[in-house]
Amino acid sequence: MNDPHSQEHSVRDLLRELFPETHRELFGDHPQDAPPTLGLYPVADGRLALVHGGQLAEFTPLDPKGKNALHCDLCHYTRSRTEAAVYRVAVAARRSRYVTLCTATEACQGRAGRRGLEGLAGRIFPIEPVHADEHGG
Ligand SMILES: [Zn+2]
Repeated sequence: MNDPHSQEHSVRDLLRELFPETHRELFGDHPQDAPPTLGLYPVADGRLALVHGGQLAEFTPLDPKGKNALHCDLCHYTRSRTEAAVYRVAVAARRSRYVTLCTATEACQGRAGRRGLEGLAGRIFPIEPVHADEHGG
């Protein structure tokens, strides 16, 4: 079941397969003509892709722990554990951020609006590239 392209086939490829119209919006022929794309897009395995302009971050849901209510970091609603999830986002080689988001991301983004999404993107981006020759620290 090992797909040799699993790493190379990025979220972008998934977007093209799953949401061709979204893909065209994001990576279309004339990206300069459009305002920077901003949004969260469901990809595979419950993950979300946060896209802002040419930047992309992948949100990986964590296994739920405990049974406290969750507070969505995007729309700021308090959600039950079935309505939201904690996602891990790798923002640098050894650094992750944890973000709580509604699993029904379309409704969540509707509540948050573009301003809310911009705030979230501002917390996540820029993502540091992974350096092969990183100095210790
Ligand atoms: Zn939400």
